[in-house]
Amino acid sequence: MDYLKIVKDNCIKCGLCTDNCPFLSKYSINLLDFTKREDLAYSCFLCNKCSNVCPKDLNGKYISLAFRQNTPKYKLVKLTKESYPFRNLPKRKGKSSDLLYLGCNFPTFYPETSKTLIDLFKDKGFDFSIDCCKNPVKSSGYKDTPSKLLEDQIKNLDIDRIVTACPNCYHQMKKKYDAQIISIFEWLEEYNYIKDINHECNVFYPCSDRYNREIFEVIKRHAPKYQDKFKSTNCCGAGGLASKEEREIADGMTKSIKNDEIYTYCATCSMRFSKYNKVHHFVSVFLGIDEEVNTDYLKNALKAKFFK
Ligand code: SF4
Ligand code: SF4
Repeated sequence: MDYLKIVKDNCIKCGLCTDNCPFLSKYSINLLDFTKREDLAYSCFLCNKCSNVCPKDLNGKYISLAFRQNTPKYKLVKLTKESYPFRNLPKRKGKSSDLLYLGCNFPTFYPETSKTLIDLFKDKGFDFSIDCCKNPVKSSGYKDTPSKLLEDQIKNLDIDRIVTACPNCYHQMKKKYDAQIISIFEWLEEYNYIKDINHECNVFYPCSDRYNREIFEVIKRHAPKYQDKFKSTNCCGAGGLASKEEREIADGMTKSIKNDEIYTYCATCSMRFSKYNKVHHFVSVFLGIDEEVNTDYLKNALKAKFFK
């Protein structure tokens, strides 16, 4: 059913969504009002916070995505992410039952950790891929079709499992392909590569995993003293490309955590929060590297393109 109609039929105008979202409160609207504001399609951070507080489980993300499909925007995002210029595809000919899928952001912000992961996979006889999962294409309102290139790789390399380093790739690719999608944490746990964190750590959950915590289920087994300190921050500010329309709100979200120590599992969240905080990425910490986020984007992207 049309999602806008679902909101119209179910919203009881309690205002909880407005109270919990800087975008909705800026325009003094609730999700029912949002269904009449197609002009605000690109102002939503797609962060899912509203659905977590709404007594009717309504979600502004789906209103925004429905509007965006009517008015696709940011053609450059579509062009560069659909055909990612720093792509580095598997080279091998024979079977790779597991494929390390690094995505596009993780290898640029965490080059050393990425190289270590590639080596671990190589040791087990598996290949890797650096490419975009096309989540930004969907956020720009363009049709979200499976990647033909990845479908070919699954067939040619006889891939059983795609192992994602990025939570957005995991949630974007899940159930779309003829291979099982697992997170890097499942894989590292399976091969006993995780060095546990035995001290307290404050976790910032990336939007795609914040409320269902599918990926975090594995992480928490290896960071048993984790704390949920950053509940009031909806997003790192990069969500849903909304920072282009709502720069002030996005900056406010990033600055809402300052002079703190953050553990997270999204490279983009790491990059945003590292401006004001000490940030640790769980993958890097679990491997005993604890690499600082590296913002030399172009240099790292080029290096990733030519990793062998
Ligand atoms: S929280 Fe849900 S029910 Fe309440 S106003 Fe928002 S959309 Fe409507
Ligand atoms: S998804 Fe996030 S930004 Fe969008 S309406 Fe809901 S709470 Fe606000």
